[in-house]
Amino acid sequence: VRRIVVVGGVAGGMSAAARARRLDEHAHIVVLEQSAYVSFASCGLPYHLSGEIADREALLLHTPQSLAAALALDVRTGSRVTAVDTAARTVTVATADGEYVLGYDALLLAPGAVAVRPPVEGLDHPSVHALRTVPDLDALNERVARLVADRTAGAPAPAAVVVGAGLIGLEAVEALTTRGLQVHLVELADHVLPPLDPELAPLLAGELRDHGVGLHLGVAARAVTPRGDDGAVTVTLSDGTELAADVVVVNVGVRPASDLAREAGLALGPTGAIRVDADQRTSDPHVWAVGDAVEVTQAVTGAVGPVPLAGPANRQGRRAADSMVGHRTTPQAPVLGTAIVRVFGLTAAVTGPNQAALTRAGIAHEVVRIHPGHHAGYFPGTEQVHLVATFAPDGRLLGAQGVGRAGVDKRIDVLATALRAGMTADDLAELELAYAPPYGSAKDPVNMLGFVAQNVLDGTTPQWHPDELDAARADTLVLDVRQPAEFARGHVPEALNVPHTELRGRLDEVRAAAAGRPVSVHCASGVRSHIATRVLLAAGLDARNLSGGWLTLSAVH
Ligand code: FAD
Repeated sequence: VRRIVVVGGVAGGMSAAARARRLDEHAHIVVLEQSAYVSFASCGLPYHLSGEIADREALLLHTPQSLAAALALDVRTGSRVTAVDTAARTVTVATADGEYVLGYDALLLAPGAVAVRPPVEGLDHPSVHALRTVPDLDALNERVARLVADRTAGAPAPAAVVVGAGLIGLEAVEALTTRGLQVHLVELADHVLPPLDPELAPLLAGELRDHGVGLHLGVAARAVTPRGDDGAVTVTLSDGTELAADVVVVNVGVRPASDLAREAGLALGPTGAIRVDADQRTSDPHVWAVGDAVEVTQAVTGAVGPVPLAGPANRQGRRAADSMVGHRTTPQAPVLGTAIVRVFGLTAAVTGPNQAALTRAGIAHEVVRIHPGHHAGYFPGTEQVHLVATFAPDGRLLGAQGVGRAGVDKRIDVLATALRAGMTADDLAELELAYAPPYGSAKDPVNMLGFVAQNVLDGTTPQWHPDELDAARADTLVLDVRQPAEFARGHVPEALNVPHTELRGRLDEVRAAAAGRPVSVHCASGVRSHIATRVLLAAGLDARNLSGGWLTLSAVH
């Protein structure tokens, strides 16, 4: 009988154990988990904190007993693997009752990640919490419940400081606000959700402020100091700001939990993640590894490092099981890093590298920004989807991001599929997507990205970008083709306002104002200015259209 030993019993580890059993009814499959819980829903933790998942037990998807009954797995909680001997093919397991050594034929390492501890003084204060595990959630929940219950009528809301505005930090902010706390969010980067392109992040910042969240961007938390004996603290920031807090949640990212692998002599990559091949096999032929602890190759840029997301971990677990039992495997494809988060009424989602990552990798790209309705404009309840996509000069899609109140999730999933398939702007333009007025448009936002990219890449409509505003003002005529009322609400200084509907009759005026310079056209979103740019080009002027229009320009300036 083959013995498969799995270290870590949550996303990647349990996917592997379950798949291995479905493929091999006779193997002895042991899952060793250091904590008291296996197969819990990490991703659901913030939603129990918010109260949306009311039943804590709903997060605990399985128990050792249910896994023994359904899958004949030998699941051992409270069992920490402290050493791997690859020559003897054994692991050392530490339990409350002492240590033992267990042999394996195939070993899977799925130990996940460990939280990065930022250099903040006083982080050990009991009011400072993490949000990674079930015990973390229980402790935080208890603190929040006590603060809410102890609040006397008329007293200010209890205060929370969340350090780190990544995916989990944002979910924590939303949950704590929902529970009635006054929340401050501290982020070292200059915008929330650092993977998001800077022109989309202000939308999230606005949503957070509208829900009363205090934003502290571009600053670090430096110290947590006690302020009385009821658990109240002061969080001091690098700009000298002092925030009073009753609870602090720190989530500044994770690093691969690869110490065990390193000590066992397995190869690690430069980021400290475990190196694996396309079948999840490590440098030792009897050891596989998956999840947050391993290195992956990122699509498009080819960057190598960990991508701590549940989807890749689960799929890798399945693949590792296939490989361990000698089943046909589907080799790991480069990881897109597709991710999504809800921030109150907004959804933000990304797939593939952002613009900064493309620039870092030296990959030439054109950026397309659009703001279409999520379904037909004439159907009630249309919401704008703000989409940014990048394309290679040959038309290949490189990455995409979106923010909006509705319809963002399906656009990003279509774009992630297109990215995986290596599609181009022409392909996006030709995608046939489901349409009836309550759901989309005959020209879906994804088609629109393709159309705009086609126009830009084949030179039909050249474009300029928000970060070129200073040069546009200095060296070109900025032509605003919105209606005068829109112009009056805010415009680029010295811009000439000629509504696009009047442009054909006022070409001489534009020509005179341009005085031989190029014309940098814009409207609110880029649609009317596209028409105007075509009119100007046909009239022999050197014209270009602002990518993303005033909506994007005003977000970044
Ligand atoms: P894990 O699922 O973390 O499991 C590793 C397990 O190994 C742990 O239980 C640990 O105790 C155990 N272990 C470690 N070392 C040892 C040892 N030596 N011996 C025994 N056991 C050990 N991803 C998304 O894609 N979408 C989301 O919405 C999302 N939300 C998240 C929300 C939160 C609050 C958190 C914490 C994570 C979220 N993630 C999300 C990330 C996702 O949960 C992880 O990427 C995924 O769980 C990684 O799977 P894994 O198997 O590598 O590690």
